[in-house]
Amino acid sequence: MRRIFISELLKTNIVITGADAHHLSHVMRSRPGDHIVVADDAGKVGEYVMTAFSSDSVTLELVQLIEENTESPVEIILAQCLPKGDKLELITQKATELGINGIAPLTSDNCVVRYDAKKAVARQEKWQKIANEAAKQCGRQCIPEVMAITPLKSWLQGIMEQDIEVLMCYENEEQIGIKELLAHSTKKKFAVIIGPEGGFSLDEVAYAKELGIPSVSLGNRILRAETAAISAMTILQYEKGDLGGRQ
Ligand code: SAM
Repeated sequence: MRRIFISELLKTNIVITGADAHHLSHVMRSRPGDHIVVADDAGKVGEYVMTAFSSDSVTLELVQLIEENTESPVEIILAQCLPKGDKLELITQKATELGINGIAPLTSDNCVVRYDAKKAVARQEKWQKIANEAAKQCGRQCIPEVMAITPLKSWLQGIMEQDIEVLMCYENEEQIGIKELLAHSTKKKFAVIIGPEGGFSLDEVAYAKELGIPSVSLGNRILRAETAAISAMTILQYEKGDLGGRQ
């Protein structure tokens, strides 16, 4: 059944407008009596029946609330230094399917792509749209938030004020593996930082260390930025979250 997200709480009757209404009426060619799943801001989910259509709205009536548990027990933020081209689109889609809660796109010393303020907002909106679509497709109860593009160092300062396990994935790390670090962590919130194609600068690695952020290895091979991001999310969900079987 098609799923939409609303930014209010579920109630008996809901009127859908905007892009979702257009999609239901004109793309899906829905009719009164068709059913749909609606998820609200609080992660509640309900089955609704479409009861009325106008030129720009669709009215829904609650059939039943649905007990769903598609959210992971751990909260994960992916902090991704901007990769080249449209790779962040793929990363956003896959990270959403893997159940993460937020994506922080970062600029760092070795990032090749630079966006002016206007383009940065347009990119953020595009990535958010991709997260919305992926969340609908995979049956999430919540949509991950794509945050504004931020410089790596200021993002690191901000995140350290929270009660969260922050990991910097670093291909030159020889001592600590992500598996070992996670085995000793009791946190329920994680942030994982992945570098751009050119990796982190030594200054960035030293700065993260100063803040007390451990660097971790994902294994013996150097992974592309997108492979590293998807692998790190998968490892985290497998070790601490909900991947590996139905719960
Ligand atoms: N600095 C390298 C270079 O230019 O050859 C490689 C950078 S790698 C393509 C991009 C990012 O993926 C890295 O900054 C790191 O965050 C992550 N990464 C890739 N392989 C990794 C590994 N084996 N362990 C930890 N992180 C890795």
